[in-house]
Amino acid sequence: MEKGLALINCSIICIEENRIKKDMAILVEFTDAGGVFRKICAMDDFEIPSGFRKIDLDGKYVMPGLINAHVHLFSSGGPVKSMPGARAQKLIFTAVNTRIGKNALKRKMKSRLDAMLTSGVTTVRCVGDFLCQDVVLRNQVESGNLPRPRMKVSGHMISATGGHGAPFLSLAADTPDEGIALVRKFAGEGVDLIKICVTGGVSDAKRLGDAGKVQMKPKVVSAICDEAHKFGLPVAAHVQSSEGLKIALTAGVDTIEHGFVLDDELIALFKENPRSLKGYSYLVPTIYAALPGMIDKGITGFSDVTCKNSTMVFEGMLHGLKQALDAGIKIGFGTDAGMPYVTHYNTWRELYYLCKYGDISPCQALCFATINNAELMGIESTTGSIDVGKSADFIVLYSDPLQDIETLKSPLMVALRGNLIEHLHFRKDNKVESALDSIT
Ligand SMILES: [Zn+2]
Repeated sequence: MEKGLALINCSIICIEENRIKKDMAILVEFTDAGGVFRKICAMDDFEIPSGFRKIDLDGKYVMPGLINAHVHLFSSGGPVKSMPGARAQKLIFTAVNTRIGKNALKRKMKSRLDAMLTSGVTTVRCVGDFLCQDVVLRNQVESGNLPRPRMKVSGHMISATGGHGAPFLSLAADTPDEGIALVRKFAGEGVDLIKICVTGGVSDAKRLGDAGKVQMKPKVVSAICDEAHKFGLPVAAHVQSSEGLKIALTAGVDTIEHGFVLDDELIALFKENPRSLKGYSYLVPTIYAALPGMIDKGITGFSDVTCKNSTMVFEGMLHGLKQALDAGIKIGFGTDAGMPYVTHYNTWRELYYLCKYGDISPCQALCFATINNAELMGIESTTGSIDVGKSADFIVLYSDPLQDIETLKSPLMVALRGNLIEHLHFRKDNKVESALDSIT
């Protein structure tokens, strides 16, 4: 039996130091809990121990596996006109809420985790899925029965009645007691975090401005945060307006998903948030998900309202991201995979758009998607960097991502807990690709 892997002649990407270490060797040891980095050293100091499989990378680049902190697995991210409204949700819910339906949904969810994996993602945080099937899959992954990315899951989302994702993807809470009851219910189901929708979203906006309109009452947001924190569960909040940010941050949410324009008070609350679990809150921007609104409407079939809300969200989110960067707010990384045109294999696009529109360096973007996200999810001692003792989650790339972020479009190999996948294949959606590539 193989004892592990001996990767030789690697160029290791040191994201924290923004540099490359050339002519390196990495020893991955297989343990009962999966493959672990056992030794990282210069080639000159390396000898392959017996029983380890030699893999000569011939100078290719090795970086930590990506962590995607904003994912939905119930939908494909295909070229649809909008997310399912209440009536369509009911149809999906009814179909899925059977044994056969749940199994079919789980099969789809597994194939989307595969797509994520082929894009270099070794950990995901699911922030809204039907019927807690993400919890079921996470349990299978953790028990070692499902070789897929490590998962942190929220199960359903919580919204106000008629709010974002309601009534099936989100369950409704309009009073503090209803919010507390849902947190207790989800905690009982075994979720890792609570997801709330403080404001509306683009997908179910009926008028311009609906995307950022506050839907959840401040006292409900507060009650949910307090109750979730009693269980040690962080709260992730969908927010797309400054007014919504104030309500969410004041209540002590741990992560803001998407975000909007900041002011001094909001910046101070992000950096020092006494009611949050860590004493500060993260921003998780999702630039990619707001971009399809810029594709020609003749191609997408999006309504005027969708495009206008999408543009508003894109501009506000980008502005807020730049302010957050200047202010030193902690920033995570998420794609919002599952939304229209946001596929699970296209993780590189969010990195690319962060650099292109956010004017940040590839190194910073990669830092959000590895080190910062590991810390955001409380798994920094397990993954997020290539360090001795951590899980062997890594990507092998043809070229240097610090110079060329687009190289992440097609990783050469991906390793998940030391399980090396050498032949990555997934079918791209050509309609999605050409539509996104048409954005200038
Ligand atoms: Zn989302």
